[in-house]
Amino acid sequence: MMDDLRELYQEVILDHGKHPRNYGTIEDYNHTAHGHNPMCGDTLVLYLKTDADDVVRDVSFKGQGCAISVASASLMTEILKGKTVTEAERLFAAFHDMCTRDDAERPSDVDEEALERLEVLSGVREFPVRVKCATLAWHTMDAAVHDKGEISTE
Ligand code: ZN
Repeated sequence: MMDDLRELYQEVILDHGKHPRNYGTIEDYNHTAHGHNPMCGDTLVLYLKTDADDVVRDVSFKGQGCAISVASASLMTEILKGKTVTEAERLFAAFHDMCTRDDAERPSDVDEEALERLEVLSGVREFPVRVKCATLAWHTMDAAVHDKGEISTE
């Protein structure tokens, strides 16, 4: 990866880590879940409001963790608004691939712009322990939409 690109990615992660977007509790959520990454100590509560067509109308999170886990949750909340639950699940699968495989493919049924935004976190590929930090928010989103209540990355 080019150095200036890596630097830009680092800046985005630090910015979202320090100033997380959509932080807090939305009032009328209809899905929620707790996520926990014991490897790093990251914890997250996600709140989702979906409408009758399964479109995410609002989303927020609370929690504590390393810069990567907070930045990932912050970015995810920005991306999820307006997406259907199915689109969110597809993005999760593609993002997970991006974080774990060098030869990850770009599925054609996934929002390309959203995936590009998530690329700032793809550097975790080189640090397997960090993959769980980067994907915790998405695992928690998956638990929330399936009303599982709680997930652990272990
Ligand atoms: Zn972490």
